[in-house]
Amino acid sequence: AGKEQVELANGIRSTLTLLDHKIRNKHIAVTLNIPDDLPAICGWPGELNQIWTNLIDNAIDALPDGGTLEITSEPDRQANGLEFVLTKVIDNGSGIPADIQDKIFEPFFTTKGIGKGTGLGLDIVCGIVKHHNGSIKVHSEPGHTEFSVCIPVD
Ligand code: ADP
Ligand code: MG
Repeated sequence: AGKEQVELANGIRSTLTLLDHKIRNKHIAVTLNIPDDLPAICGWPGELNQIWTNLIDNAIDALPDGGTLEITSEPDRQANGLEFVLTKVIDNGSGIPADIQDKIFEPFFTTKGIGKGTGLGLDIVCGIVKHHNGSIKVHSEPGHTEFSVCIPVD
C-alpha cells in the first residue's frame, strides 16, 4: 500500500487504548501533549502505530506502580528548511544503564526474562523509522528515559 496522510495524534491515542489494560494495572499517569495544528505526515499508518506501540510498551515495562508516561509531538523545521514532526516518549522509570544504551537497538537484545522479551521491539522501530527517512535517539539516566523520533512531513 502507498503512503497516506497520517495524523499522529490519532495513532498515538489508539495505541494508548490498546495498552490501556497494562497502563491501568500499573496505575500509570499518562500525559499527551500534541497541538491540534500539528501537521499530518506522509507515511504508512500501520507502521507508525507499531513505533508508538513498541516505545510505549517498553516505557510501561520500565515504570514502577504509579509511574508517569508523557508523549509529546511538535513540528520541527531543520536548518535545510525541511519540516519534521518530533515525537517523544518519556518515562520516569528505571532508566537504561549507560553500558547497554548502545546495544538496545540490536535485534534480540533484551534485559527481560525468557518468554517476556523478544528483544525485537526497538529493532522493528529502527526499521520503520528508516523506512520513513526519519531518525531516532535515546537519552536516559536513572529515573528518566526519553526516546525521540523525528519523521519528515513529506
Ligand atoms: P524487549 O522489550 O523485548 O526487551 P526491545 O527491543 O523493545 O526488546 O527493548 C530492548 C531493551 O531496551 C529492553 O529489554 C530494555 O532493557 C531496554 N529498554 C527499552 N526501552 C526502555 C525504557 N523506556 N526504559 C528502560 N529500558 C528500556
Ligand atoms: Mg519491547
